[in-house]
Amino acid sequence: MERTLSIIKPDGVGRGLAGEVIGRMEKAGIRICAMKMVRLTIEQARMFYAVHRERPFFDSVTRFMTSGPIIAMVLEAENVIKKNRDLMGATNPEQALPGTIRKDFASDVEKNIVHGSDGPETAAVEIKFFFSDLEMQQ
Ligand code: UDP
Ligand code: MG
Repeated sequence: MERTLSIIKPDGVGRGLAGEVIGRMEKAGIRICAMKMVRLTIEQARMFYAVHRERPFFDSVTRFMTSGPIIAMVLEAENVIKKNRDLMGATNPEQALPGTIRKDFASDVEKNIVHGSDGPETAAVEIKFFFSDLEMQQ
């Protein structure tokens, strides 16, 4: 069993797409073992996306991530890192495959509805960023 961090971003929450996103995960056989709604400060958003700090989109995406509440979740399934990335689709919705969350709902490359960890190491770090061990006993 593998775990990953998923986030429904401020655009997804604000547009009322949380149920749609969670429904797709559940239909794919993914279990949700922890979930919380939070609003990030700019410092927290910059820390979360620190790997991107040299990228031209860093300031904009970190501001976007603070623009409203987000829903953070720990997902569990076999191969869930890839399973979740497959459900999400490519970062840029124009390049995402039909039937993916980003193709179906994202408005642009920044406001793309969901985040998902991209590998086992990032998943471990990102899960710890949002959840304590106590919050993940479900
Ligand atoms: N992003 C952006 N412009 C870009 C690339 C990324 O605004 O050219 C934003 C977008 O919200 C993306 C996030 O920064 O989801 C993190 O980028 P990453 O390359 O890690 O994409 P992801 O892993 O989310 O598909
Ligand atoms: Mg990424």
